[in-house]
Amino acid sequence: MFLPACGNDAETDRSNYEIYVSYDKEDKTLTGTVKLDYFNNTDNELNDLKFNLYGNAFRENSKFKPVSETYKNRAYYNGESYGEMTVKNVENCAGWTVAGEDENILTVNLSSPIGPEQRYCLTINYTLKLADVNHRTGVTATTVNLGNFYPVLCAYSKEGFIECPYYYCGDPFISECSDYSVTIELPAEYTVASSGKPESETEADGKKKCSYSLKNARDFAMVLSDKFQTVKENVNGVEVSYYYTNDNNPQISLSAATQSVKYFGDVFGAYAYPTLSVVQTDFCYGGMEYPALTMISRGLDSDNHIYTIVHENAHQWWYAMVGSDQLNNAWQDEGLTEYSTLMFFENNPNYGFTRTGIVKSATSAYRAFFSVFQQLNGEVNTAMTRNLKDYSGELEYNNITYNKGLIMFDMIRNSVGDAKFNSALKNYFNANRYKIASAEDLYGEFIKTGNLPESYFLSFTEGKILI
Ligand SMILES: [Zn+2]
Repeated sequence: MFLPACGNDAETDRSNYEIYVSYDKEDKTLTGTVKLDYFNNTDNELNDLKFNLYGNAFRENSKFKPVSETYKNRAYYNGESYGEMTVKNVENCAGWTVAGEDENILTVNLSSPIGPEQRYCLTINYTLKLADVNHRTGVTATTVNLGNFYPVLCAYSKEGFIECPYYYCGDPFISECSDYSVTIELPAEYTVASSGKPESETEADGKKKCSYSLKNARDFAMVLSDKFQTVKENVNGVEVSYYYTNDNNPQISLSAATQSVKYFGDVFGAYAYPTLSVVQTDFCYGGMEYPALTMISRGLDSDNHIYTIVHENAHQWWYAMVGSDQLNNAWQDEGLTEYSTLMFFENNPNYGFTRTGIVKSATSAYRAFFSVFQQLNGEVNTAMTRNLKDYSGELEYNNITYNKGLIMFDMIRNSVGDAKFNSALKNYFNANRYKIASAEDLYGEFIKTGNLPESYFLSFTEGKILI
Protein backbone atom coordinates (compact mmCIF):
# COMPACT_ATOMS: atom_id res chain seq x y z
CA MET A 1 0.00 0.00 0.00
CA PHE A 2 1.43 3.35 -1.02
CA LEU A 3 0.82 6.17 1.41
CA PRO A 4 1.24 9.58 -0.18
CA ALA A 5 3.63 11.95 1.54
CA CYS A 6 1.85 14.53 3.64
CA GLY A 7 4.38 17.29 3.52
CA ASN A 8 4.66 17.30 7.30
CA ASP A 9 8.10 16.95 8.81
CA ALA A 10 6.62 14.11 10.89
CA GLU A 11 8.96 14.94 13.74
CA THR A 12 6.21 15.79 16.18
CA ASP A 13 4.07 13.34 18.08
CA ARG A 14 0.98 15.21 16.93
CA SER A 15 -1.34 15.04 13.95
CA ASN A 16 -1.11 17.70 11.29
CA TYR A 17 -4.03 19.27 9.42
CA GLU A 18 -3.39 20.89 6.07
CA ILE A 19 -6.64 22.68 5.23
CA TYR A 20 -7.54 24.49 2.03
CA VAL A 21 -10.96 26.15 1.78
CA SER A 22 -12.58 28.53 -0.64
CA TYR A 23 -15.49 30.76 0.44
CA ASP A 24 -18.30 31.52 -2.01
CA LYS A 25 -20.16 34.52 -0.66
CA GLU A 26 -23.21 34.12 -2.96
CA ASP A 27 -23.78 30.46 -2.03
CA LYS A 28 -22.63 31.02 1.58
CA THR A 29 -20.62 27.86 1.12
CA LEU A 30 -17.12 26.79 1.97
CA THR A 31 -15.57 24.18 -0.31
CA GLY A 32 -12.49 22.53 0.97
CA THR A 33 -9.97 19.83 1.48
CA VAL A 34 -8.50 18.55 4.71
CA LYS A 35 -5.30 16.61 4.37
CA LEU A 36 -4.71 14.93 7.70
CA ASP A 37 -1.39 13.44 8.64
CA TYR A 38 -2.60 11.43 11.61
CA PHE A 39 -0.26 10.41 14.40
CA ASN A 40 -1.52 7.47 16.45
CA ASN A 41 -0.97 8.69 20.02
CA THR A 42 -3.16 5.93 21.47
CA ASP A 43 -1.94 2.62 22.90
CA ASN A 44 -4.04 0.67 20.40
CA GLU A 45 -3.86 -0.52 16.85
CA LEU A 46 -6.54 1.38 14.93
CA ASN A 47 -8.59 0.23 11.95
CA ASP A 48 -10.56 3.42 11.54
CA LEU A 49 -10.57 7.11 12.40
CA LYS A 50 -13.60 9.18 13.39
CA PHE A 51 -14.35 12.84 12.83
CA ASN A 52 -16.97 15.16 14.31
CA LEU A 53 -18.97 16.93 11.59
CA TYR A 54 -20.27 19.81 13.70
CA GLY A 55 -21.64 21.65 10.66
CA ASN A 56 -24.36 19.00 10.35
CA ALA A 57 -26.09 20.21 13.51
CA PHE A 58 -27.41 23.11 11.43
CA ARG A 59 -29.43 20.76 9.13
CA GLU A 60 -33.17 21.24 8.88
CA ASN A 61 -33.88 17.82 10.37
CA SER A 62 -31.07 17.58 12.88
CA LYS A 63 -31.94 15.65 16.02
CA PHE A 64 -29.87 17.92 18.25
CA LYS A 65 -30.64 21.56 17.50
CA PRO A 66 -27.71 23.96 17.89
CA VAL A 67 -29.85 26.49 19.79
CA SER A 68 -32.63 26.17 22.33
CA GLU A 69 -36.11 27.65 21.88
CA THR A 70 -35.07 30.44 24.27
CA TYR A 71 -32.24 31.60 22.01
CA LYS A 72 -33.83 30.80 18.66
CA ASN A 73 -34.98 34.32 17.79
CA ARG A 74 -31.67 35.80 18.81
CA ALA A 75 -29.81 33.25 16.67
CA TYR A 76 -31.97 33.04 13.53
CA TYR A 77 -32.13 36.75 12.71
CA ASN A 78 -33.58 36.07 9.22
CA GLY A 79 -36.03 33.39 10.25
CA GLU A 80 -35.36 29.70 9.78
CA SER A 81 -32.15 28.90 7.96
CA TYR A 82 -30.16 25.73 7.50
CA GLY A 83 -26.69 24.56 6.68
CA GLU A 84 -24.83 21.27 6.48
CA MET A 85 -21.44 19.68 6.13
CA THR A 86 -21.23 17.27 3.19
CA VAL A 87 -18.34 14.87 2.77
CA LYS A 88 -17.78 14.40 -0.96
CA ASN A 89 -15.07 11.78 -0.76
CA VAL A 90 -12.16 10.53 1.29
CA GLU A 91 -8.92 9.68 -0.47
CA ASN A 92 -6.60 6.90 0.67
CA CYS A 93 -8.95 4.70 2.68
CA ALA A 94 -10.83 1.41 2.46
CA GLY A 95 -14.21 3.12 2.75
CA TRP A 96 -16.07 5.78 4.72
CA THR A 97 -19.52 6.45 6.15
CA VAL A 98 -21.38 9.34 7.72
CA ALA A 99 -23.55 8.22 10.62
CA GLY A 100 -23.46 8.65 14.41
CA GLU A 101 -26.40 9.73 16.54
CA ASP A 102 -27.21 12.66 14.26
CA GLU A 103 -25.27 12.29 10.98
CA ASN A 104 -22.51 13.94 12.97
CA ILE A 105 -19.72 11.37 12.64
CA LEU A 106 -17.52 10.54 9.68
CA THR A 107 -15.89 7.12 10.05
CA VAL A 108 -12.97 6.39 7.77
CA ASN A 109 -11.87 2.75 7.42
CA LEU A 110 -8.12 2.67 7.01
CA SER A 111 -6.50 0.74 4.18
CA SER A 112 -4.28 -1.00 6.70
CA PRO A 113 -4.26 -0.90 10.52
CA ILE A 114 -1.91 1.55 12.20
CA GLY A 115 -0.12 0.81 15.43
CA PRO A 116 0.83 3.20 18.23
CA GLU A 117 3.15 6.00 17.10
CA GLN A 118 2.52 5.25 13.42
CA ARG A 119 1.25 7.86 11.00
CA TYR A 120 -1.48 7.68 8.35
CA CYS A 121 -2.33 10.23 5.71
CA LEU A 122 -5.78 10.81 4.26
CA THR A 123 -7.63 13.56 2.43
CA ILE A 124 -11.24 14.60 3.00
CA ASN A 125 -13.03 16.66 0.36
CA TYR A 126 -16.08 18.44 1.73
CA THR A 127 -18.43 21.39 1.54
CA LEU A 128 -19.90 23.42 4.37
CA LYS A 129 -23.13 25.22 3.61
CA LEU A 130 -23.65 27.98 6.17
CA ALA A 131 -26.99 28.91 7.70
CA ASP A 132 -27.91 32.55 8.37
CA VAL A 133 -27.37 32.28 12.10
CA ASN A 134 -25.64 34.24 14.86
CA HIS A 135 -23.73 31.22 16.05
CA ARG A 136 -20.31 29.57 16.03
CA THR A 137 -20.75 28.44 12.43
CA GLY A 138 -22.88 30.70 10.24
CA VAL A 139 -23.37 33.87 8.26
CA THR A 140 -24.39 36.84 10.42
CA ALA A 141 -25.34 40.41 9.44
CA THR A 142 -21.72 41.56 9.79
CA THR A 143 -19.48 38.49 9.79
CA VAL A 144 -19.01 34.92 8.59
CA ASN A 145 -18.32 32.82 11.67
CA LEU A 146 -16.15 29.80 10.92
CA GLY A 147 -15.90 27.87 14.15
CA ASN A 148 -15.76 24.06 13.68
CA PHE A 149 -15.61 24.59 9.92
CA TYR A 150 -13.81 21.36 9.01
CA PRO A 151 -14.15 17.66 9.99
CA VAL A 152 -12.48 17.52 13.42
CA LEU A 153 -10.76 14.32 14.47
CA CYS A 154 -12.54 12.91 17.55
CA ALA A 155 -10.47 12.77 20.73
CA TYR A 156 -9.63 9.22 21.84
CA SER A 157 -10.41 7.79 25.27
CA LYS A 158 -10.33 4.31 26.85
CA GLU A 159 -13.73 3.68 25.25
CA GLY A 160 -12.55 4.71 21.78
CA PHE A 161 -13.21 7.86 19.79
CA ILE A 162 -15.43 10.40 21.58
CA GLU A 163 -18.45 11.40 19.53
CA CYS A 164 -19.86 14.83 20.42
CA PRO A 165 -23.52 15.39 19.47
CA TYR A 166 -24.27 19.13 19.24
CA TYR A 167 -26.03 19.79 22.56
CA TYR A 168 -27.17 23.40 22.74
CA CYS A 169 -26.14 23.60 26.41
CA GLY A 170 -22.42 24.11 26.77
CA ASP A 171 -19.57 23.51 24.37
CA PRO A 172 -19.91 19.96 23.00
CA PHE A 173 -16.31 19.78 21.81
CA ILE A 174 -13.35 17.61 22.82
CA SER A 175 -10.29 17.45 20.64
CA GLU A 176 -6.59 16.84 20.97
CA CYS A 177 -3.76 19.21 20.13
CA SER A 178 -2.52 19.15 16.53
CA ASP A 179 -0.62 21.37 14.11
CA TYR A 180 -2.34 23.32 11.32
CA SER A 181 -1.58 25.00 8.04
CA VAL A 182 -4.72 26.65 6.76
CA THR A 183 -5.33 28.51 3.51
CA ILE A 184 -8.56 30.31 2.72
CA GLU A 185 -9.48 31.81 -0.63
CA LEU A 186 -12.17 34.49 -0.44
CA PRO A 187 -13.45 37.74 -2.00
CA ALA A 188 -10.73 40.39 -1.67
CA GLU A 189 -12.93 42.81 0.29
CA TYR A 190 -12.98 40.49 3.31
CA THR A 191 -10.63 40.64 6.27
CA VAL A 192 -9.80 37.35 7.97
CA ALA A 193 -9.46 37.05 11.75
CA SER A 194 -7.97 33.64 12.52
CA SER A 195 -6.41 31.37 15.12
CA GLY A 196 -3.17 31.24 13.15
CA LYS A 197 -0.07 33.25 12.55
CA PRO A 198 -0.30 34.89 9.08
CA GLU A 199 2.13 33.22 6.67
CA SER A 200 1.22 34.77 3.31
CA GLU A 201 -1.42 36.80 1.52
CA THR A 202 -1.83 37.18 -2.24
CA GLU A 203 -4.49 38.97 -4.26
CA ALA A 204 -5.61 38.56 -7.88
CA ASP A 205 -8.85 39.02 -9.87
CA GLY A 206 -10.87 40.27 -6.91
CA LYS A 207 -9.92 37.29 -4.74
CA LYS A 208 -7.37 36.84 -2.06
CA LYS A 209 -5.63 33.86 -0.60
CA CYS A 210 -4.51 33.96 3.02
CA SER A 211 -2.39 31.30 4.72
CA TYR A 212 -1.89 30.69 8.43
CA SER A 213 -0.04 28.31 10.70
CA LEU A 214 -0.72 27.19 14.25
CA LYS A 215 1.08 24.61 16.33
CA ASN A 216 -0.07 22.48 19.25
CA ALA A 217 -3.68 23.67 19.36
CA ARG A 218 -6.90 21.69 19.74
CA ASP A 219 -8.88 23.56 17.08
CA PHE A 220 -8.64 26.28 14.45
CA ALA A 221 -11.26 28.98 13.77
CA MET A 222 -11.72 32.01 11.53
CA VAL A 223 -14.13 34.93 11.28
CA LEU A 224 -14.50 36.85 8.00
CA SER A 225 -15.93 40.30 7.48
CA ASP A 226 -15.92 43.13 4.97
CA LYS A 227 -16.70 45.52 7.83
CA PHE A 228 -13.87 44.87 10.29
CA GLN A 229 -11.77 47.63 11.75
CA THR A 230 -8.68 46.52 13.60
CA VAL A 231 -6.44 47.67 16.45
CA LYS A 232 -3.38 45.69 17.59
CA GLU A 233 -0.88 45.63 20.39
CA ASN A 234 2.04 43.41 21.23
CA VAL A 235 2.16 42.00 24.75
CA ASN A 236 4.86 39.59 25.97
CA GLY A 237 5.70 38.81 22.32
CA VAL A 238 2.07 37.98 21.45
CA GLU A 239 0.34 40.03 18.77
CA VAL A 240 -3.14 40.70 20.14
CA SER A 241 -5.58 41.99 17.49
CA TYR A 242 -9.05 43.29 18.17
CA TYR A 243 -11.40 43.07 15.17
CA TYR A 244 -14.55 45.12 15.65
CA THR A 245 -17.54 46.43 13.76
CA ASN A 246 -19.28 48.39 16.50
CA ASP A 247 -17.17 49.81 19.30
CA ASN A 248 -16.76 53.47 20.30
CA ASN A 249 -13.79 52.63 22.52
CA PRO A 250 -11.77 49.96 20.73
CA GLN A 251 -8.63 50.87 22.70
CA ILE A 252 -10.39 50.04 25.97
CA SER A 253 -11.44 46.66 24.59
CA LEU A 254 -7.91 46.03 23.33
CA SER A 255 -6.46 46.99 26.73
CA ALA A 256 -8.75 44.51 28.51
CA ALA A 257 -7.54 41.87 26.04
CA THR A 258 -3.81 42.62 26.43
CA GLN A 259 -3.95 43.13 30.19
CA SER A 260 -5.73 39.81 30.67
CA VAL A 261 -3.21 37.97 28.45
CA LYS A 262 -0.44 39.47 30.55
CA TYR A 263 -2.16 38.75 33.88
CA PHE A 264 -3.04 35.12 33.11
CA GLY A 265 0.45 34.58 31.67
CA ASP A 266 2.03 35.88 34.88
CA VAL A 267 -0.26 33.95 37.23
CA PHE A 268 -0.77 30.61 35.44
CA GLY A 269 1.98 30.29 32.82
CA ALA A 270 2.96 31.67 29.42
CA TYR A 271 0.49 31.95 26.55
CA ALA A 272 1.62 29.47 23.90
CA TYR A 273 0.61 30.99 20.57
CA PRO A 274 2.14 33.84 18.54
CA THR A 275 -1.16 35.69 18.01
CA LEU A 276 -4.55 36.17 19.63
CA SER A 277 -7.58 37.45 17.69
CA VAL A 278 -10.39 38.96 19.75
CA VAL A 279 -13.31 39.27 17.35
CA GLN A 280 -16.61 41.09 17.60
CA THR A 281 -19.31 39.05 15.88
CA ASP A 282 -23.07 38.72 15.90
CA PHE A 283 -23.51 35.91 18.35
CA CYS A 284 -26.51 34.56 20.21
CA TYR A 285 -24.50 34.05 23.42
CA GLY A 286 -21.96 36.37 25.06
CA GLY A 287 -18.89 34.83 23.46
CA MET A 288 -17.04 31.72 22.40
CA GLU A 289 -13.50 30.52 22.73
CA TYR A 290 -11.24 28.87 20.16
CA PRO A 291 -7.47 28.50 20.39
CA ALA A 292 -5.95 31.93 19.73
CA LEU A 293 -9.33 33.33 18.71
CA THR A 294 -12.31 34.47 20.73
CA MET A 295 -15.73 35.53 19.45
CA ILE A 296 -17.36 38.38 21.40
CA SER A 297 -21.02 39.22 20.83
CA ARG A 298 -21.82 42.66 19.40
CA GLY A 299 -24.96 42.80 21.52
CA LEU A 300 -23.35 43.29 24.94
CA ASP A 301 -23.45 46.39 27.16
CA SER A 302 -20.04 47.87 28.00
CA ASP A 303 -19.54 46.03 31.33
CA ASN A 304 -20.54 42.67 29.87
CA HIS A 305 -18.42 43.35 26.81
CA ILE A 306 -15.25 43.81 28.89
CA TYR A 307 -16.19 40.92 31.20
CA THR A 308 -16.70 38.63 28.19
CA ILE A 309 -13.35 39.59 26.63
CA VAL A 310 -11.57 38.63 29.87
CA HIS A 311 -13.63 35.44 30.32
CA GLU A 312 -12.95 34.25 26.76
CA ASN A 313 -9.26 35.09 27.11
CA ALA A 314 -9.10 33.03 30.31
CA HIS A 315 -10.30 30.11 28.17
CA GLN A 316 -6.98 30.29 26.33
CA TRP A 317 -5.56 28.79 29.54
CA TRP A 318 -8.56 26.62 30.51
CA TYR A 319 -9.67 25.04 27.24
CA ALA A 320 -7.14 25.98 24.56
CA MET A 321 -3.92 25.07 26.39
CA VAL A 322 -5.28 22.90 29.23
CA GLY A 323 -8.17 20.92 27.80
CA SER A 324 -10.80 19.07 29.81
CA ASP A 325 -13.84 16.87 29.28
CA GLN A 326 -16.36 19.54 28.37
CA LEU A 327 -19.06 16.92 27.80
CA ASN A 328 -19.04 15.59 31.36
CA ASN A 329 -17.17 18.14 33.49
CA ALA A 330 -18.15 21.50 32.01
CA TRP A 331 -17.53 23.14 35.43
CA GLN A 332 -13.83 22.34 35.09
CA ASP A 333 -13.74 24.56 32.04
CA GLU A 334 -16.38 27.24 32.81
CA GLY A 335 -16.08 27.38 36.61
CA LEU A 336 -12.32 27.79 36.53
CA THR A 337 -12.57 30.30 33.68
CA GLU A 338 -15.11 32.32 35.64
CA TYR A 339 -12.87 32.23 38.69
CA SER A 340 -9.85 33.31 36.64
CA THR A 341 -11.94 36.21 35.32
CA LEU A 342 -12.69 37.20 38.92
CA MET A 343 -8.97 37.06 39.74
CA PHE A 344 -8.19 39.38 36.83
CA PHE A 345 -10.74 41.97 37.93
CA GLU A 346 -9.68 41.71 41.57
CA ASN A 347 -6.15 42.62 40.42
CA ASN A 348 -7.34 45.29 37.95
CA PRO A 349 -9.83 47.25 40.08
CA ASN A 350 -10.11 50.09 37.55
CA TYR A 351 -12.77 48.07 35.67
CA GLY A 352 -15.11 48.39 38.65
CA PHE A 353 -15.65 44.68 39.41
CA THR A 354 -14.70 43.33 42.85
CA ARG A 355 -14.16 39.82 44.19
CA THR A 356 -16.96 40.29 46.73
CA GLY A 357 -19.32 41.68 44.10
CA ILE A 358 -18.72 38.82 41.64
CA VAL A 359 -19.04 36.09 44.31
CA LYS A 360 -22.19 37.74 45.69
CA SER A 361 -23.86 37.96 42.31
CA ALA A 362 -22.97 34.32 41.46
CA THR A 363 -24.29 33.19 44.88
CA SER A 364 -27.57 35.07 44.62
CA ALA A 365 -28.12 33.84 41.03
CA TYR A 366 -27.39 30.27 42.16
CA ARG A 367 -29.75 30.51 45.15
CA ALA A 368 -32.51 31.99 42.98
CA PHE A 369 -32.09 29.11 40.50
CA PHE A 370 -32.13 26.59 43.38
CA SER A 371 -35.30 28.00 44.85
CA VAL A 372 -37.13 28.16 41.49
CA PHE A 373 -36.14 24.57 40.61
CA GLN A 374 -37.11 23.38 44.10
CA GLN A 375 -40.54 24.92 43.73
CA LEU A 376 -40.97 23.52 40.25
CA ASN A 377 -39.58 20.03 40.73
CA GLY A 378 -39.54 19.41 44.49
CA GLU A 379 -35.85 18.51 44.38
CA VAL A 380 -32.87 19.99 42.60
CA ASN A 381 -30.07 18.07 40.96
CA THR A 382 -26.96 20.09 41.83
CA ALA A 383 -24.37 17.58 40.58
CA MET A 384 -21.63 19.30 38.64
CA THR A 385 -20.30 16.10 37.09
CA ARG A 386 -22.91 15.21 34.50
CA ASN A 387 -23.25 15.00 30.75
CA LEU A 388 -24.37 18.08 28.78
CA LYS A 389 -27.47 16.14 27.70
CA ASP A 390 -28.56 15.92 31.35
CA TYR A 391 -29.11 19.65 31.78
CA SER A 392 -32.70 20.83 31.39
CA GLY A 393 -31.60 24.09 29.75
CA GLU A 394 -29.27 27.07 29.90
CA LEU A 395 -30.50 28.29 33.30
CA GLU A 396 -29.54 25.03 35.02
CA TYR A 397 -26.32 24.68 33.00
CA ASN A 398 -25.14 28.23 33.73
CA ASN A 399 -25.83 27.98 37.44
CA ILE A 400 -24.23 24.58 37.91
CA THR A 401 -21.13 25.11 35.79
CA TYR A 402 -20.38 28.87 35.93
CA ASN A 403 -21.90 30.02 39.21
CA LYS A 404 -21.50 26.95 41.41
CA GLY A 405 -18.07 26.43 39.84
CA LEU A 406 -17.01 29.97 40.74
CA ILE A 407 -18.40 29.64 44.28
CA MET A 408 -16.49 26.36 44.71
CA PHE A 409 -13.16 27.89 43.65
CA ASP A 410 -13.70 30.84 45.98
CA MET A 411 -14.38 28.47 48.89
CA ILE A 412 -11.27 26.43 48.02
CA ARG A 413 -9.22 29.62 47.98
CA ASN A 414 -10.60 30.64 51.39
CA SER A 415 -9.59 27.22 52.75
CA VAL A 416 -6.09 26.88 51.32
CA GLY A 417 -5.06 30.55 51.22
CA ASP A 418 -4.04 32.71 48.27
CA ALA A 419 -0.44 31.49 47.88
CA LYS A 420 -1.32 27.77 47.80
CA PHE A 421 -4.35 28.42 45.62
CA ASN A 422 -2.28 30.24 43.00
CA SER A 423 0.51 27.71 43.04
CA ALA A 424 -1.98 24.82 42.66
CA LEU A 425 -3.37 26.48 39.53
CA LYS A 426 0.12 27.09 38.19
CA ASN A 427 1.01 23.42 38.78
CA TYR A 428 -2.25 22.30 37.14
CA PHE A 429 -1.42 24.44 34.10
CA ASN A 430 2.16 23.17 33.82
CA ALA A 431 1.27 19.50 34.29
CA ASN A 432 -1.63 19.49 31.83
CA ARG A 433 -0.68 21.96 29.12
CA TYR A 434 -1.64 20.59 25.65
CA LYS A 435 -3.46 17.64 27.29
CA ILE A 436 -7.03 16.83 28.27
CA ALA A 437 -7.01 17.06 32.07
CA SER A 438 -9.35 15.02 34.26
CA ALA A 439 -11.31 16.48 37.18
CA GLU A 440 -8.91 14.57 39.49
CA ASP A 441 -5.95 16.31 37.84
CA LEU A 442 -7.47 19.62 38.91
CA TYR A 443 -8.65 18.90 42.44
CA GLY A 444 -5.58 16.70 43.00
CA GLU A 445 -3.49 19.89 42.93
CA PHE A 446 -5.57 21.36 45.77
CA ILE A 447 -5.42 18.10 47.74
CA LYS A 448 -1.62 18.31 47.49
CA THR A 449 -1.73 21.64 49.35
CA GLY A 450 -2.54 19.48 52.39
CA ASN A 451 -5.58 21.43 53.48
CA LEU A 452 -8.44 19.65 51.74
CA PRO A 453 -9.60 16.02 51.37
CA GLU A 454 -11.04 14.55 48.16
CA SER A 455 -14.47 14.32 49.81
CA TYR A 456 -14.56 18.11 49.91
CA PHE A 457 -14.47 18.32 46.09
CA LEU A 458 -16.86 15.42 45.65
CA SER A 459 -19.40 17.17 47.88
CA PHE A 460 -19.50 19.88 45.19
CA THR A 461 -19.22 17.79 42.07
CA GLU A 462 -21.69 15.15 43.27
CA GLY A 463 -24.08 17.82 44.49
CA LYS A 464 -24.22 17.12 48.24
CA ILE A 465 -23.04 20.47 49.55
CA LEU A 466 -25.59 23.19 50.28
CA ILE A 467 -24.79 26.70 49.15
ZN1 LIG B 1 -16.77 30.22 28.95
